Amino acid sequence: MKNRLSSMYEMQLIDDQLDELEALRGDLPAMVSELEDKLRNIQNQINVKEEESANSVARREQNIQKIEKLQESQKRFKSQLYQVRTNKEYDALTKEIDGADAEISRLEKENDALVELGEKLKAEAVELQPVLDELQDELKHKNENLARIIKSNEAEFKKLMEKRKVVEAKINKGDYDNYMRIRRARRGKAVATIRRSACSGCNSIVPSQRQLEIRRNNRIYTCEACGRMLVSAEIADEVSGQTE
Ligand SMILES: [Zn+2]
Repeated sequence: MKNRLSSMYEMQLIDDQLDELEALRGDLPAMVSELEDKLRNIQNQINVKEEESANSVARREQNIQKIEKLQESQKRFKSQLYQVRTNKEYDALTKEIDGADAEISRLEKENDALVELGEKLKAEAVELQPVLDELQDELKHKNENLARIIKSNEAEFKKLMEKRKVVEAKINKGDYDNYMRIRRARRGKAVATIRRSACSGCNSIVPSQRQLEIRRNNRIYTCEACGRMLVSAEIADEVSGQTE
């Protein structure tokens, strides 16, 4: 049992050191992911504008084909005008011609608007490009800084991770899951000890009867105030001495 408690405390000391190494990265990881989000967003905006601009070109081409067809039929109608025999036929044909005229001018107007829209979108996409470039530069810079920090303590990190693996193998799964759960809930600190009659995690006084029980090192007690696992000062000092 005592080994079980020691291993838990040892795990906590290793994780404390790992947390310190991670803290050296500061807010760089958060900034990197924020920049990546921004970049994705701008790139997306550019893509949408370019796509819409291409769509406007395609629609314009469709309109041009429609106009050509209408002009063809205009020619036909106009030649037919000379062959009509009744007023009724004449009216029907001129109505067709007027209708086609109106449709042609509507399509031409639409095309003018499409040209304008396409150019506007293209210009907007071009305008976003420097923003994108700047963000990319910034991201590159931040990533380099982060990589430098990670590299500077890579060896220490590796050594700690190896030690952690060895200790993890000594801990049963239930204890480990418990440890990780409390660690997540309690800002990294899952195991505390007794210092001056108080839990070293939250400084709440531990009742003296409970302190006596903890000193027997024969089961895992948790702090009633913070829920952290408590190991005796004897175990804490022993483990700290070994790992120094
Ligand atoms: Zn506590």
